[in-house]
Amino acid sequence: MNACRSNSRGRIGKNKYIILNHCVIIPENLLREARTYKGIKVYNTQSTNLFHTYSDQLTRFVNILIRLAEVVQLKLEDIHVYYYDDSSKVAFNKDKALYFNFKSYLELHDDECKFGNICNAMSYWFIMVCHELAHNFALEHNATHEYYFTSYVMAYMSSIFNAIFNTINIISSIINFVN
Ligand SMILES: [Zn+2]
Repeated sequence: MNACRSNSRGRIGKNKYIILNHCVIIPENLLREARTYKGIKVYNTQSTNLFHTYSDQLTRFVNILIRLAEVVQLKLEDIHVYYYDDSSKVAFNKDKALYFNFKSYLELHDDECKFGNICNAMSYWFIMVCHELAHNFALEHNATHEYYFTSYVMAYMSSIFNAIFNTINIISSIINFVN
């Protein structure tokens, strides 16, 4: 299965179209497996050593994905992290394995997460996880994809709320402990 192999057109309103390119599959030859971190395989497309350059940031992103895997009851081996310089390529689904762009996380959420504010990141990446899971049933962004995406969001809505709430409590208790 090759979900979102090429850019798909999504219709908004009657006549307006946008290009939905955030699920474009990164070619295999560009992804070099760096290593497995906390059970999640991490891939790179650059010469940068992610684990040296972005050690703390990568840990925060992987921790978020681990919590989301628990929420949607996914195995960690079904989740992959990749670093791709074009951060508009946020995620993709390849052969029912989900891939998430660490560069997108860096640009969108790490500035908040490093201060313990994980609400926006958890919400955003939860939606991304549900979106990519829906590609298990539909390659394109069509009505079938929309149906499964909505179903996943509804099915796990209370779980993601609990996960965000519990994570905030854990972070608060650490901050209080340190202070
Ligand atoms: Zn998609």
